[in-house]
Amino acid sequence: MEKNSILSGFIVLDQQRVDELEADLWQMEHQKSGARLVWLERAEENKTFAIAFQTQPWDDTGVFHILEHSVLCGSKRYPVKEPFVELMKSSMNTFLNAMTFPDRTVYPVSSRNGQDFINLLRVYMDAVLHPLLHSKPEIFGQEGWHYELGEDGALSVKGVVYNEMKGAFSSPDALLEREAARRLFPDTCYRYVFGGDPAHIPELTYEAFAAAHSRLYHPSNSYIFLDGSVDIAQVLEILDSEYLCAYERCPTPEGIPLQKPVEAGLSAIRYELSAQESLEGRARLADGYAVCTFRDRETLMALQALSDVLCGDNQAPLKRRLLESGLAQDVRLELHDGVQQPWLLLEARDIAEDKSEEVSSALRDELERLSREGLDHRRILAALDNLEFEARQRDYGQMPQGLMLCFQVMESWLYGGDPAANLSVGTLFDGLRDKCGTGYFEELLKQLILENPHHCRILALPSHTIGQERRAQETARLSAIRSSWGTEEAAGVHRFQEAIAAWQNMPDTPEQLASIPRLRLDQIPAEPEKLPIEEESTGCVTLLRHRLPTNGITYCNLYFALDDLSPEELAKASFMAQLFGCLDTAKYSLADLSREMRSLFGNIWFTVEAYGRQNAPDRCRTFLCVSCSILDAKLEKALSLLTELLVGQQWENSQQALTFLRQRRAAMAEQMVTAGHSAAMSRVLACSTAEGAVQEQASGITFLRWLTELEQNFPARFPALAQDLISLAQRIFCRARMTVSVTAGNEASAKTVTRLLSSSLPQGSFALPCTGAVLPWEPRREGFVIPSGVSYAALGGVFQGAGSGSAKVMGRTVSLAHLWNTVRVQGGAYGTGMVLRDTGFAGFYSFRDPSAARTLDCYRTSSDFLRGIDIDLTGMITGAAAESDPLLTARMKGRMADALYWRQISHEDRCRVRREMLAAVPEDLKALAGPVEDLTARGSICVLGSRQQVDACAGWLDNIVVL
Ligand SMILES: [Zn+2]
Repeated sequence: MEKNSILSGFIVLDQQRVDELEADLWQMEHQKSGARLVWLERAEENKTFAIAFQTQPWDDTGVFHILEHSVLCGSKRYPVKEPFVELMKSSMNTFLNAMTFPDRTVYPVSSRNGQDFINLLRVYMDAVLHPLLHSKPEIFGQEGWHYELGEDGALSVKGVVYNEMKGAFSSPDALLEREAARRLFPDTCYRYVFGGDPAHIPELTYEAFAAAHSRLYHPSNSYIFLDGSVDIAQVLEILDSEYLCAYERCPTPEGIPLQKPVEAGLSAIRYELSAQESLEGRARLADGYAVCTFRDRETLMALQALSDVLCGDNQAPLKRRLLESGLAQDVRLELHDGVQQPWLLLEARDIAEDKSEEVSSALRDELERLSREGLDHRRILAALDNLEFEARQRDYGQMPQGLMLCFQVMESWLYGGDPAANLSVGTLFDGLRDKCGTGYFEELLKQLILENPHHCRILALPSHTIGQERRAQETARLSAIRSSWGTEEAAGVHRFQEAIAAWQNMPDTPEQLASIPRLRLDQIPAEPEKLPIEEESTGCVTLLRHRLPTNGITYCNLYFALDDLSPEELAKASFMAQLFGCLDTAKYSLADLSREMRSLFGNIWFTVEAYGRQNAPDRCRTFLCVSCSILDAKLEKALSLLTELLVGQQWENSQQALTFLRQRRAAMAEQMVTAGHSAAMSRVLACSTAEGAVQEQASGITFLRWLTELEQNFPARFPALAQDLISLAQRIFCRARMTVSVTAGNEASAKTVTRLLSSSLPQGSFALPCTGAVLPWEPRREGFVIPSGVSYAALGGVFQGAGSGSAKVMGRTVSLAHLWNTVRVQGGAYGTGMVLRDTGFAGFYSFRDPSAARTLDCYRTSSDFLRGIDIDLTGMITGAAAESDPLLTARMKGRMADALYWRQISHEDRCRVRREMLAAVPEDLKALAGPVEDLTARGSICVLGSRQQVDACAGWLDNIVVL
């Protein structure tokens, strides 16, 4: 392939080398239709495909968000109601989703399996170009909005996006962001609510919606992205012959104009606060600034560093100034980029309503002082070090790298820029380091914040009644509409409502379902990926080594054994772990310490962890784990700072400990409300496994209560606690308790880590107790009332053979064929599933559930579902195999290999489980119906939710308390 060559109707326009990715970037264009294509050719097994359309909204109806949902509701070749869900259940995808941005809509998929990748690409191309929405107005009604006439004749509005945005509009963050964009960009598409404003969604007609698809989902307006070792000839041939060749070029939308600077002045908005919370001191003040364009990469990176330097932690000067004066509880500076014209939001949170002037001048005074007297340059350099680490590491956790590369390409390509512009780090950071100390950052502060003429200011005020007022307005509006209708119109609305219900209730036919391409079982790898691990003994320290290419980075995990700690000591160890980096040490003040940590580590975490033994619910290993990532060149310095942390932390600093404690407790209490399913499952696991009991003690509701009790009696309790922490640290951080794990491409790293740590930690002593100091609890059935409108229901217990392949296929089948339909589709919960653990545990959970009591019934009927099972398991087996072999970065591979080591699960064990999965037949699942019935009858239960929801479960529960 070379420039100007033509392949399947695509002409090659350009080729560029991207050394940092060891890739070639090919730019092509489909000559007949005008579709643009970029391929990052590189030796990456996980292949990514995405198609994006430029979609600039022209009002607040959320038309492109509704389209994003609707095109995934069936297409010409794949006429099932939810092809997206079918693929999610049964493909080997490593990513599958769709996203609406302020100016574009993107449909990305990825897979390691070549045939699976082609299947996904075909379904997505057909979805965006040939969706059924043109012949099925019901799709628009279901996904966008429609009227519903109740039994009593009352009128309401329903719709997936309508409800989703109602939820999104209750958060003050979303309201502030929306108001800032609206005020800063009055002449461009960025002023509109691209997701849709619930008050305006019902203004969208089906005709306008369908016309928007015809006009903008055209190849001429498309941007196709490919990444990895794809069979390019095959892909281009499919794109051309099956999709693009049917289209002629058409005019494409104009580019997005640049907004001229506007001084938008002050505006006020109100946000809803629950009646239990006081309105006092809960206002927010925000300043928005348009800063530059997508082309100014250096400025954007400098602003990232600046926001870290000014507000990155409690020691950062701008934040500290406001916290110390008591004017605000938090200060943030956030860059909103990924759009043509990025902007900044500087926000003071939890301020008194009548103090906004004072807050504003305190912010300005401090910023003026900093720009005049100069910023702390060592802190800027540390922030740059940390940002460069992130940029070079390209570790996005669960998100495949190809997806992030796709975003980086779109963020330039879509605006007429070079698709490769954001892909290399190059000398970006060196250039910024050179500018540090020249007044560059101070000037940036002055020009882009203090003297920026393109500005808006927003005051967000809390209200107890705003929600009611909006609902009352909505009711009045709807009843006016209702009374304006004659019988004819009402009958029309009723007919459409019935048509939607009929369409929803009609199952896909077997022929329709067969249209979804699936892998055959012989196309699924017979073995999971082997994770490298070598166990070495160096003196008295065990070393676990994972030899993997890591691009100049060492990932280090230190495991300090805690198996002999009592439950109370575990809570203290967990508190201690979380305090690392929040207190002065012998050599460093907290401000210096946090600067050094940013500079020397990419990341560093301290956690208490438990690893249950396979098929042994009452056995587990418990550790305080230190996980960090370090550039090879900084290894020695970073490890010496790590030792300073482990042995030099000043545990007696009560003020710093109290600041941390307050922030931590508040964050955990909030987690109970937003992620209550984890908290509920943690309780149920504690009733069944030793691993669960440890984790509950270290991070569950039990730990939250421990923190609350400490906060309430802090002055009395802290001095003794500090002494306990000192002796605990002396006991734990020693060679006898330590196992070192190193994931690195560099041969020398592992030796350096073990040598440095062995020489700086004392020998100490440790003997692994025969039985763990923490045992599973007795079964419990408990409810916790939390301030929330929804609930979370968990049920579970010991389950022999939970780690077998057939049990895993059973769990996935119950989750997707039973719970999905009963709890999610019919019951309205946002999420639900069955969980199986290799220790010998099985359980069920629900997420954002409107009816916990009904859900508990659905868990119980799982055994009947299994007895009557009569489906082809191929899709379930494919999904289960994919789930057991997730896409991992080098860092994650090292962590997972460690976990398998502690759980005593070998690669042979995993291969056996894979064989059992591939061989699973419906009879195996039927055979598990009895054990599942037993589980739901005697399992432990934990429900978190509103008073009303928890009370409705009273028949299931022995005990209900307010959390
Ligand atoms: Zn959505």
